[in-house]
Amino acid sequence: MKFIEGTRVVAESELQTNSITRYHATKFYHDQIKNSGYYDQLKYIVEPSFGEFESPGNLDTSGEHDNTVVLGLQHKYAQTGLLLATDSCVSYCRFCFRKRFVGRASDEIALDFGQIARYIVNHPEISNVLLSGGDPFVLSTAKLDKILDYLLPIPHLASIRFGTKALAFEPKRFEDPALPALFQRVHEAGKAAVIVTHFDHIGEISGDAERNILSLRTQGVQFFNQSVLLAKVNDDPEILAATFAKCHQMGVRPYYLFQARPVKGASHFQVSLRRGLEIAHGINQRLSGIQKTFKYIMSHYTGKIEILDLGADGRVYMRYHQNKVPEKIGRIFSRPHLEGACWLDDLPEG
Ligand code: SF4
Repeated sequence: MKFIEGTRVVAESELQTNSITRYHATKFYHDQIKNSGYYDQLKYIVEPSFGEFESPGNLDTSGEHDNTVVLGLQHKYAQTGLLLATDSCVSYCRFCFRKRFVGRASDEIALDFGQIARYIVNHPEISNVLLSGGDPFVLSTAKLDKILDYLLPIPHLASIRFGTKALAFEPKRFEDPALPALFQRVHEAGKAAVIVTHFDHIGEISGDAERNILSLRTQGVQFFNQSVLLAKVNDDPEILAATFAKCHQMGVRPYYLFQARPVKGASHFQVSLRRGLEIAHGINQRLSGIQKTFKYIMSHYTGKIEILDLGADGRVYMRYHQNKVPEKIGRIFSRPHLEGACWLDDLPEG
């Protein structure tokens, strides 16, 4: 098998033991990253590395199993139902936090949409459903339409969200002539249609991606972007500020900058909290007020934690952006900083 560092003979069992994700990247993405001038950074997103054999961690860092209420549906935060629509992606990211099932035969994805819809109907606090996976845009538009048949009649759903990296990997997917009618259905049902893109780097934003985003925006689709802070890829405030400024210019609101998770086989992508905060502050120093809409977030087992600052008192200051316990949301808390810490669990209590 080819790795960034060279060729290595690996047994199938070795790949499985180390949870090595299958390798696949579209020709479009390869051409895009080669021509972008950023290949030396962007290759780490899709090309396998020896580092994957030596990265400790676990395969469910956010407690997804514990929050699964119906096969393929997670209900961690009151307002959001997260639907695992597929285990496939357009290309496979080496840092994927769902590598436990993405790109392999999985028993975690949604099968019974009637059962899922019944759960949502019985939980009026759920105001939006996020179609995720894997990437929902590997599914045909006809299949997506079938899923919407179950979701659109639910009156308390205010929005349908699609989380996708396909605008980076294969933007022509969004030229499907059947898609406008799908988004039109969402609007006619009185709901917002939202696409959350996943651009980690300015070099991933192609002309085709921009053209398709602008076209979908004219169809009333709202856009947000989330990125993951990745060592060797985008751990540079200049690059991330340029990425977010470009998103802003296209009408895509920068939303989350995720701290990379301690995923087995992918924790070598983590950047220390100290460096992450320097980068987050550096991004904000380079953007205008209306461009700095992102939050630097750790999606932890206990909730989504905004990482705020490293104080002069040597403590890391954080605040719950989302938590199962509503009273905890917005509350600032701190932990003593430990050099090299990358995750809440690396910080001592006290
Ligand atoms: S597109 Fe998302 S789900 Fe798919 S491999 Fe990349 S990070 Fe994982």
